[in-house]
Amino acid sequence: MPDATPPAGFGRPDLTTFARLDGLGLAVTGHRLEPDRAVLACRVVEPDRWCHDCGGEGRARDTVVRRLAHEPLGWRPTMLEVVVRRYRCRECGHVWRQDTTAAAEPRAKLSRGGLRWALTGIVVQHLTVARVAEGLGVAWDTANNAVLPRASAC
Ligand SMILES: [Zn+2]
Repeated sequence: MPDATPPAGFGRPDLTTFARLDGLGLAVTGHRLEPDRAVLACRVVEPDRWCHDCGGEGRARDTVVRRLAHEPLGWRPTMLEVVVRRYRCRECGHVWRQDTTAAAEPRAKLSRGGLRWALTGIVVQHLTVARVAEGLGVAWDTANNAVLPRASAC
């Protein structure tokens, strides 16, 4: 019978840590491999269920999906589809979304990992914006708008 126990020094396979999403407050719940990209379905690890206005308890209402371009893995663009919960406060009716600032800046289209990859590509490896956009699987404008303010500060 073949022995499937990993040799010493190996952990169990874990997409969340492999894709470096544990540091972004996300956990992978599924993956879909398409011909030209990989898509990782993620959930936000921290619940964030207390009202941002009055501190009352929120009731989970529904979810929205936030799409982010992440660092490419194996030269294949890797996209995140993050399921974000929306809550409504039982006390005051305030509605909010689960905090995803660990994963990406507000309104950003790149994850923090994707942004770091893009900046390293441009500043350290002297890749063009076009090459970085191709790696991330995003439009040129999206890559340029994300990196331009930061690359000039490096
Ligand atoms: Zn409230």
